[in-house]
Parts: sequence; structure tokens; C-alpha cells
Amino acid sequence: MTAIATATATHCPYCALQCGMAVSGNEQAPRVDPREFPTNRGGLCQKGWTAASLLTTPGRLTTPLLREDGVLRPVTWDIALDFVADKLRALRAEHGPDSVAVFGGGGLTNEKSYLLGKFARLALGTSQIDYNGRFCMSSAAAAGNRAFGLDRGMPFPVTDLDTADAVVLVGGNVAETMPPFTQHLRQAADRGGLIVIDPRRTATAELASLHLQPAPGTDLCLALGLLHLAVADGHFAADYVATRTTGFEAAWRMAARWWPEQVERVTGVSVADQRAAVRLLAQAGSAYVLTGRGAEQHASGADTVSAWINLCLALGLPGVAGSGYGCLTGQGNGQGGREHGQKADQLPGYRMIADPAARAHVAGVWGVGPDELPGPGRSAYELLDALGQPGGPKAMLVFGSNVLVSAPRSNRIAERLDALELLVVADFVLSETAARADVVFPVTQWAEEDGTMTNLEGRVLLRRKALTPPLGVRGDQDLLAELAIRLGQPAERFPTEAETVFTELRAASKGGPADYSGIDYDRLRAGEALYWPVPENDHPGTPRMFLERFNTPDGRARFIPVDHRGPAEAPDADFPLYATTGRVLQHYQSGAQTRLVPELNDAVPTMFVEVHPDTAARAGLEDACWARVISRRGTVLAQVRTVPSLRTDTVFLPFHFPGDQRANLITNPALDPTSRMPEFKVCAVRLEALS
Ligand code: SF4
Repeated sequence: MTAIATATATHCPYCALQCGMAVSGNEQAPRVDPREFPTNRGGLCQKGWTAASLLTTPGRLTTPLLREDGVLRPVTWDIALDFVADKLRALRAEHGPDSVAVFGGGGLTNEKSYLLGKFARLALGTSQIDYNGRFCMSSAAAAGNRAFGLDRGMPFPVTDLDTADAVVLVGGNVAETMPPFTQHLRQAADRGGLIVIDPRRTATAELASLHLQPAPGTDLCLALGLLHLAVADGHFAADYVATRTTGFEAAWRMAARWWPEQVERVTGVSVADQRAAVRLLAQAGSAYVLTGRGAEQHASGADTVSAWINLCLALGLPGVAGSGYGCLTGQGNGQGGREHGQKADQLPGYRMIADPAARAHVAGVWGVGPDELPGPGRSAYELLDALGQPGGPKAMLVFGSNVLVSAPRSNRIAERLDALELLVVADFVLSETAARADVVFPVTQWAEEDGTMTNLEGRVLLRRKALTPPLGVRGDQDLLAELAIRLGQPAERFPTEAETVFTELRAASKGGPADYSGIDYDRLRAGEALYWPVPENDHPGTPRMFLERFNTPDGRARFIPVDHRGPAEAPDADFPLYATTGRVLQHYQSGAQTRLVPELNDAVPTMFVEVHPDTAARAGLEDACWARVISRRGTVLAQVRTVPSLRTDTVFLPFHFPGDQRANLITNPALDPTSRMPEFKVCAVRLEALS
């Protein structure tokens, strides 16, 4: 047992706000206290306050598990590692390198994300790697890249919002997902400028001055309509558009067709509310638009975000001090996780894998030839859907993800996982995905290891080791190194110390769009938390991006012409309701962690479905009864909560629960053509009483 004499300054294990916290006590009785950091200013949400429970959870894995005769049995690390390496070698020899897939997560540290990409491409030689961030903010990343030439979710500090006169939140419920964030919205709310766009009257909508409640899947149409009104009502920032952007005419031709009355018919948002929203935004001295998953998790997610960015550009907001566009990244390292090489199409430093110069640079850092790097692979859902299928991977290694609960159409995902010849999961508890694996490795968790995270502002910070992990538990980096060596890689190519990995990551990122080369652990240990890019050791970081120029060849932001298209699956006579999914205050992502915390699980122990009372009555349902929510893909069981503020055509389900309470049993994996984001936010369902 290691007694901690003083508290260790670190950050929360959960969301992208990365609130400052301090860990004290010891391994048997750890304690978490809030700590001052600009994103949280000493506040924590219920998840953060109870995060110490994760460190002593009774379900903690402390030995590798190997499936024998259908049962997972404890084995030594060497037996498990040898078993996996032998199997991987055999599969690669018989079926080629792409027969093995790797699936990562947006909660992994930068070092793990980096090493995972390197492991996949060098030790396995596979192109088949992607991660659950594809399900999170990939549409906003794609839209940011095509408009600004670079995606840093929020290209300004969160604290800039403190002095905003108007903030528009499109599909983001921060009052539940990251409650300390709401303190940054106070001035906008006090001045009557907080606008929330959400089909539900969420806790965040309750704080708003104006709540627009569009039908699910119509955000793109609403953004087009607001652009139309911005121009028609004389709010067009002509000088800004002329000097800092290109492509307005083509984007305008799309928006010009969307007259306010027509937008009202499609979205359900009144012309008066549309006009009020535009006026609030345009007349504010300081205005911001932030998109969340509600705008992004659609088969038209990238175009939807582009439509909101087009509106921002027409009003002259991005790249101007005191205003802007940003994405509300969700997962703890959703930003860093998408920068360091665990995406199917990217190498470290946010470099594109198909770019010859990027390949040459990264290959040079790795000490191999560019031709030795595989090309782009399948996106997350396409990868999962190909598992065990002809031409698809026959083995998969999963790190930091619980795909059985978090991927869309999850009954299909279960079949695919079962079709694999080898499923390996690294986790600190037996998640639903781990319980289906052939081999499970028990790995360290947040306060037991050092590592860097990049928060929703693009700010790189150090999450420190505060406690010694339980006996038998090893780090993901150890696991990757052990497997790599068994697969014939030189040991020095796969360092296990986080600081050593970070030093290599810096070199790999140097000169790239997300340049970390001027950040080192000494700066982070000294208390700095640096906004990338940081290209030199004495560089102070870049809190605000694009003030002089955007990251495009001509320095101008690009309007992207987009047009409305409805959801991939609209309600009909058999499935007459929209279903939309999201999170609740007490749970995080698949719930694999928060369901282990008694205070959180007791507060929301089971699946529920929010239904308007009239809709419930028509389906023969009463408050608190259990119902089947049925789509073309499956059925989820949920307890009815009648909510009068909900649209009568819409039901809402959280996605934190396992088994037959998985919201993703019903969701639609229709993919966005640009971001490959599945349409988590809309599908067609019907309700039936559970007799
Ligand atoms: Fe943790 Fe996010 Fe809650 Fe902050 S808001 S305490 S980072 S879960």
C-alpha cells in the first residue's frame, strides 16, 4: 500500500471538460476533491465527485482471463500474451495483416492513442483500426476541417464564453453532460442571449432565453433557414465575407430556397422564433455557436454542422476575438484521441494517412519506410459490421471501448463479435464487450498511471498517477509492448513509460496540423496546460486560433454548399414516432464505469423512455410502466417516463444500459458519407406495453 502524503493534482476520468481534481488518501480509501482549473473553477458534477469509487470497485479485474470450454478462466499474463500472439501470428500468416483489427477509444490518453496506432500499423501491419470517437464528434471534425482547414473542437478558451452576449447550443445538453460548463453561459443567459436548439426541453433548455424545438433530423434545414433570414434581414457581414471567406454564393444558392415559412413547416420552429434567434445572434457584441451530438450524430451530420458554420461565417463570427464557432467534444480525450493515429484515415499529428508527405514524416519517426505503412482502413461501424464476414477481420483487439453497448444496431454487433475467431479486450472491469471476449487483460485506470489528455479546448494537460494499481494489473502500454515483441518488433520501438511515448509523439506531430512538439512533461508538471499548436519549447501555446488566417491554402474560411435532407428513416404507419438518444447526468457513455458507482447507479438504475403523456395514452402506457420500444432493427425494454414538454412525435432514450435495455438495439447505422458517423439521433419506432 502506498500512502499518499499530499493530494495529487490531476483531472477527472470522464468527460472532455477535464475538470481539475485532487486525489488523496490511499489505495483502500482514495478520495477525490475538486481543484481549481479554468474549465470547472473548483466545481465538479456528480460523476466527478464520486470518481474515487471507480478505484475501489469490487468488480476490478486483477488477472488475465482466457476462455476455455466457453468459460473465462484466470490465467497468467504470459499464458494470455502467448495465446494471443500465437493466434495473431497464425491469422496473419493465413489471411494477411488485415485479418486483425484494432478498436480504440476517445477516453484513452494521447500516449495510448498514439501507441495503439503505431502497434496496429507496425506490429500488426493492419489498416483495420478505428475508434469510438467516430461515434462521437467525427461530423464536427469533418465540417471543421473543410471550413477552416483544421479541426480543434473549440478554437478558443471556454472562459471566453464568460463574456458572451449570445451563445447558441445546437444539440448539446451541457447542464447534464458537463454541468460545470454552465457557469460559462451565465452572462449570455442573464442578457437574454442563451439559445438552445433541441427537440427535448432538457435541463439546458430550462436555462435558455430561447428554446427552439425542431423535429429530430431537421437541424440542417433550420440552419439553412437562419442563414436565409440573416441575409434577408440585413445581418450579413459583407466585409468579413469578402475578405476572410470564399464560396458564399454557392452556399447562399442552397439557403435562398429555404423561406422561413417553409422552414417552419419542416422543423416545427415558428418564423417568429427563427427571426428572434437570428436577431439575438446578429446583434450581440460577442456571439458563439456551439454544436453537440444532437447536430452531429446524423447521416447528414457533417453537412448539418457545415450549415451552422455557414451561418457563423455569414455573421462574421469565426476567427474573431470575442466570437466564434466550436464543437462540444464529449469524451475525455475525444480531441486528442482523434489526433494521434487511432483513426482509420489518420496518422499522428492529425496527418492524413493517404498524404505521401505525412507518411514519409511518420515513417521516419518510426524508423521504417513509408511503403511499410498500410493505407486507410474501414470506419468504426463498417469495421464492426465486417467482423467475421468474408474479407473482413477475423480477430479484434479492443481498448477503452464497450462496443456491444455503444455501437448502433447492437444485436448485429453481437453477432459480428461472436463470428470472430479471436476477440481480445483490455479493460479494468468486465464490461459487456469484455464478457464476450476470448481473452481479457486487466489494465490500469485513470489515477493509476500518468498520461496526457487534450480537452475540448485543444488544451493538453497531464493526468497524473496518484495510486499504485492492484497487483496483477498492468498498463495498456505494457500490454502493447509485450504483444509487439512477441510479434517480432524490437522492444525499443514500443516504450512503456508515458513520458517516453509522449516524447516520440511530439516528434511525430512536429510540423503537422496538431503540433505538440513544444510541449514536454516538465512544462506540464510545472502546471502548464497548453493549447496546441505549440511548435517550439518556449512557445506559449495558441489559445485562440484563426485570428489572422484560417488553415486553408489561401487563409480564408470556406463556405460549404449544403442542402437539407431528412433522416435516413422517417416515421411511417408501422413506426410512427421519432426516437432520439442521449445521456443523463449520472451516467457516462456505455455506463460501464458509472453503473459501478453506487451513488450514480442508485439514482438511475434502469433504462427509461421519455414519452409525451398524450403519446403514452395512445399507446396504452402509463407513467412508470414498462414498454417495448420497437424499431426495424430490434426492441429495447424501458420504463415509461411521461414528460409533458416533449414533442408528441418524439421519444427519448438514454444509451447507458446493457442487455435488453440497450438503446442501441434500435438505432440506425445509416452513415454520414463524409464523417462515417452513424445516425444515433433519429430512427423510427413504435411503443407497446410490456405485458
Ligand atoms: Fe468530470 Fe465532466 Fe463532470 Fe467535470 S463535468 S466532473 S470532467 S464528468
